[in-house]
Amino acid sequence: MASTTVYPASEPERWTYLNRVRTRPGPLTKPDFSGEGIAAAMESMRILVIGAGGLGCEILKNLALSGFKDIHVIDMDTIDISNLNRQFLFRQEDVGKSKAEVAARFVEKRVKGVKITPHNNRIQDFDEDFYMQFQLVVCGLDSIEARRWINAMLVNMVDAEAEDSFKPLIDGGTEGFKGQARVILPTMTSCIECQLNMHAPRAAVPLCTLASIPRQPEHCIEWAHVIAWDEAKPFPQLDKDDPEHVGWLYQKALTRAQEFGIPGVTYALTQGVIKNIIPAIASTNSVIAAACCNEAVKMASDSAPFLGQGLDNYMMYTGDDAIYTYTFSAERKPDCPVCGQTARALPADPAWTLRELLDSLAALPEAQLRRPSVRAAGKTLYMQSPPSLEEQTRPNLDKTLAELGLDHGQEVGVTDPAFATVLFTFKLEFPKDKRQ
Ligand SMILES: [Zn+2]
Repeated sequence: MASTTVYPASEPERWTYLNRVRTRPGPLTKPDFSGEGIAAAMESMRILVIGAGGLGCEILKNLALSGFKDIHVIDMDTIDISNLNRQFLFRQEDVGKSKAEVAARFVEKRVKGVKITPHNNRIQDFDEDFYMQFQLVVCGLDSIEARRWINAMLVNMVDAEAEDSFKPLIDGGTEGFKGQARVILPTMTSCIECQLNMHAPRAAVPLCTLASIPRQPEHCIEWAHVIAWDEAKPFPQLDKDDPEHVGWLYQKALTRAQEFGIPGVTYALTQGVIKNIIPAIASTNSVIAAACCNEAVKMASDSAPFLGQGLDNYMMYTGDDAIYTYTFSAERKPDCPVCGQTARALPADPAWTLRELLDSLAALPEAQLRRPSVRAAGKTLYMQSPPSLEEQTRPNLDKTLAELGLDHGQEVGVTDPAFATVLFTFKLEFPKDKRQ
């Protein structure tokens, strides 16, 4: 299908209504305000959009139609056919191509004068110098890990002596009918790491519930996935993309659901649960992207207060039970490993092995570190890599914290390859009766 190209009849008219908002002085405008100056500043402002997926397509379209003209976009993904129902910058013939590149070309074609520079990369491929060139970063990501990485980068970049080193971050996220939009002013307001416990990993269903009394269709699927598969071993290795394997789990889950009178087990749900697929809904993406982009316009034009300028910096949108939205102040944490100054307490027990301590770092909502390396009192206790160091430190994993000479109040430094630049500092906190 050929796409229709709609060019504006004349450029000034296209921006008439936007100009009414941004070129007229208001209570927030600076003393030397000039309407043309604001429009020109917005046009020359360089914005980075991270993600060109469900949220990213909306964000790119909105920013381009809001008067921003110098936009960069990073996304390492290629277009999949299942994206086409909501990632509206992509067409059938784009399947397999780079999201960043196709999205950039599409928006450039539709909005005259806008320049979009695509980067078909991971955010981790770039260094501080790259991120320094932007005045504002807008994230539309589906991964907490990527958000934590860019957050740490932007916080670490701030140099009190150089105003240019300060890059506000607008972050949107959605999950099904729910979403959030928040603004981070690095080192000034609460950062993504401070708010990490609000994105706790999905609560695992206790094994006993799965084994004894399932209540939801998901419980029956998890039972088939975790318990029935292991008992029967119908195929040597579970391949979650193999329809035969998924079909086997689906039949098992369905039989169990019927035994307990639980409706709702389907093939699609089975696939969703075992692959942990978060449903993406086009309209939720558009609500959240719109909220994010309006904050960008307000930030760039001083036309109205933006999220984070006052105390409130976090807007949550709940659409899975009618509609509820709430905007509040997410507080900065003094023991935040990224923007705080003090070590964070880490509950532990002297009888735990080092392995148990490391496992607890993955499970703890405010840590969520899956591949930690750890040092304490100037000694390396465990290193994930290189292989030689891993092998050398591996025996420590089975020693208890007491055997390793770690005591209550001991500071431990933790790094994780997902956050190369961050040293997480924790302070061991033993139960009262087990302190030396
Ligand atoms: Zn923080």
